[in-house]
Amino acid sequence: MTKKTDFQVETLTAQAAGFHRTGHSGLVPSLELATTYDRSHGPGPVYTRDQNPSYLPAEELLATLEHGSQAMLFSSGMAAATSVIESLESGQRIVAPKAMYWALRRWLSTFAARRGVEVTWVTPHVIDEWQVALRREAQLVWIETPANPLLELTDISAVSELAHRAGAQVVVDNTTATPILTQPLRLGADLVMHSATKSLNGHSDVLAGALVVKDAGSALWAYCRAERAMRGAVLGPFEAWLLLRGMRTLPLRVRQASQSAAEVAQFLKQHPSVLEVFYPGLAMAEQRELANKQMCGGFGSLLSFRVRGGGERAARVVKRLELFRDATSLGGVESLVEQRARVEGPASGLPDDLLRLSIGIEACGDLVIDLMIALEE
Ligand code: PLP
Repeated sequence: MTKKTDFQVETLTAQAAGFHRTGHSGLVPSLELATTYDRSHGPGPVYTRDQNPSYLPAEELLATLEHGSQAMLFSSGMAAATSVIESLESGQRIVAPKAMYWALRRWLSTFAARRGVEVTWVTPHVIDEWQVALRREAQLVWIETPANPLLELTDISAVSELAHRAGAQVVVDNTTATPILTQPLRLGADLVMHSATKSLNGHSDVLAGALVVKDAGSALWAYCRAERAMRGAVLGPFEAWLLLRGMRTLPLRVRQASQSAAEVAQFLKQHPSVLEVFYPGLAMAEQRELANKQMCGGFGSLLSFRVRGGGERAARVVKRLELFRDATSLGGVESLVEQRARVEGPASGLPDDLLRLSIGIEACGDLVIDLMIALEE
């Protein structure tokens, strides 16, 4: 019989519910709403804050897609990320990129000051900066690639090697790339983190997070599992059920959105009203080489561009767009636009004329026409 790991991702995701033994003949798993279990029935789940059978199919699928040994669902991406970083004790050190999800970057700064943890911030795509930062001991290294919102890539293999020599474990926020395009654990990372709110679920109707580990016997994994249970950072069973349903179409959605994003990026690149386009598929030199090495099957659904004429003009473009909705988030079936500097506030550091697009699965021609009309003014 063929082993589950021999199947391709399209098969694994489409049949995910069926691969997981449900104990009945339904083609989708049952929804387990019980928060507590009768102990007289012997071993099994005890209480939902520790574990619920509804988490298992999505956790197993994600662990398989990421080539990890175990996965854990959390109540949000932030809950997953902060559970790992909370493992740092006073006097320890984390090396993190200057460009990372802005709310996590802000949380990390205040957490580090409060806990007495040292943060060394590096420019994500400059390997020399990682090299200098990892010349001395560290406990954690955080990578987000492609990084939000300028889509700089970090070389996971190279940074993991440096990190391990410095005694640090490597966590990769793989939200933007998804396991369809990049599998960080195969490149040397120790943990993968996801905002499952984004492409994994893909339908803008579930807030969820996830961690995937290479070595389920590690002390860090035990810490994260205890943190999830003790802080109650668990997902509701219905959200876990919906997440599995979303993931069953993940490869189709990611490939379609990546293909459209590449076409939209090409369109914007030649448009006279566009100053600059940020997309891994359009990157130059070393970043281009890295994109080809590290991302397989596409460059993702996220891109940013600068509008000629400044922030006010960019704001007008957002208003003139009809298909692209002015909303935060990414990785959904519907396309979104955001003027990130205005969302992030005065400390953002991003140019006010920068618009970030999350490309959905609409007909690409319709998206291009929407942009063409909005940029016409
Ligand atoms: N990581 C990335 C790259 C994100 O874009 C986000 C949310 O936008 C998060 C983490 C946080 O995830 P959540 O909103 O599910 O808490």
